[in-house]
Amino acid sequence: MASSGAEPTIFSRITAREIPATIVAETDDIIAFNDIAPQAPVHVVVTTKSQQYRNVGELAAGDPALLAELIAVAGRVADEHCAGEYRLVFNTGASAGQTVFHVHAHVLGGALEEGTLA
Ligand code: ADP
Repeated sequence: MASSGAEPTIFSRITAREIPATIVAETDDIIAFNDIAPQAPVHVVVTTKSQQYRNVGELAAGDPALLAELIAVAGRVADEHCAGEYRLVFNTGASAGQTVFHVHAHVLGGALEEGTLA
């Protein structure tokens, strides 16, 4: 379900530069920034500038090209920050650990400990 009429999410506020973040990559439609509570040596959130889609399933169904762009940006971030070796995590739903209902991927890299999950 779309949520574009809702209150801005924290990620929309980062995109609007209303909340500070260390932005590591940006395209017309995608933005990537360091996670405020890193769970790995490299932990970057890659998200859509639009908050239309709440999770990866909705994005895949509604705009597969934008999902492909998000994944491509994640790969470029990993190339730059952790030699192209990384884990890509999409949490979907509160019981799976999703706290921000604005589609995003976690790029986790850099000597991960065994069993590390976002
Ligand atoms: P979880 O909190 O369980 O990881 P999500 O998958 O929804 O749930 O991820 C939201 C992510 O956004 C968290 O890793 C959190 O640390 C990060 N985050 C929240 N606020 C900020 C912020 N202001 N700047 C950067 N990252 C943030």
